[in-house]
Amino acid sequence: MRTTALIVAAGRGHRAGAGLPKQYRAVAGKPLLRHAIDHLAAHPAITDIRVVIHPDDRALYDAAIDGLSLPAPISGGATRQDSARAGLEALEDTPPDLVLVHDAARAFVPPALLDALFAALENPANHGAVPALPVIDSLRRGSGHFTDSVDRENLWRVQTPQAFRYPALLAAHRAAPPGATDELGIALAAGLRVAITPGDARAFKLTEPQDFVSAMSQYIPRAAAGFDVHAFGPGDHVWLCGVRIPHSHGLIGHSDADAGLHALTDALLGTIAAGDIGDHFPPSDPQWKGAASHRFLAHAAELVRARGGVIDFVDLTLICERPKIGPHRAAMQARVATILGLAPDQVSIKATTTETLGFTGRSEGLAAQAMASVRLPA
Ligand code: MG
Repeated sequence: MRTTALIVAAGRGHRAGAGLPKQYRAVAGKPLLRHAIDHLAAHPAITDIRVVIHPDDRALYDAAIDGLSLPAPISGGATRQDSARAGLEALEDTPPDLVLVHDAARAFVPPALLDALFAALENPANHGAVPALPVIDSLRRGSGHFTDSVDRENLWRVQTPQAFRYPALLAAHRAAPPGATDELGIALAAGLRVAITPGDARAFKLTEPQDFVSAMSQYIPRAAAGFDVHAFGPGDHVWLCGVRIPHSHGLIGHSDADAGLHALTDALLGTIAAGDIGDHFPPSDPQWKGAASHRFLAHAAELVRARGGVIDFVDLTLICERPKIGPHRAAMQARVATILGLAPDQVSIKATTTETLGFTGRSEGLAAQAMASVRLPA
């Protein structure tokens, strides 16, 4: 059974603000289109993802799918109907059994919504299935003043993705006159039977600027700390925050002993309760001997993102008498930002001494403490 999710993202709507089509506007650091792709790709029944874009948006699209290996995007047409049709036609060479036509502005699709679509299509009598929510508010007709009531019973607010048997939807599209707003309208005009499945308020369509604020309610904030110490020993440089710093001593450790990156790694792992750096990169494993610690930090960031999380901010305090951190602070900030895929202003690097007290004060070793804040899907 092959199921293709066809995301129609060719619209030009700038109403949401930020000066670019809304499907490329970011929520929690990720474009809406990427949220939509990630939600659909996470479902085991969806085998392929294809995206229809406006040809002018190719650079925005490439940035949005960074790190994914998707087939080339399909060029859309002048209307949404034209774009969906272009997408369906493009699938004809390797036709899927089912196609889910989805709107990129519905960025958050819970798995249960998709499960219900697939369950409905197990019934051979259904050509399609579309998620919908009952109308809660009273409905009244009027212009300037109310005239008559509308019975809200059996009225539905229709969402996407809209799932269909591919050949049936393609034929319906080919036969459809212009002016359809969605696949459901086209399918009904063609006489197809389309089941109503449970929609979900979280699958709302982001349209107005306020919607981008509301979307953050889909995330919960998490913060966690990390701490690390390494002893000074023989050497002529140390690695701190991925920056090589000439020094009268080195730092002793199994890896490159970069206490700054180790503390940051533990902080990030803490935000997803994923243990500590030693669990992921055991010192007993020879492959980590002398390893550059940016790999550890990048791995922790990857784990957060694999959970659908977004890294908001990291903060690090280096505790030592020597070397002086100030001259290297900007380079450290830039390096950590690069490793984590963040902007420099999402990375704070601070330093302090312990007024010559304790092991750091005696320059026997160096300590680092870190804090990371992330947002995870609620
Ligand atoms: Mg360490």
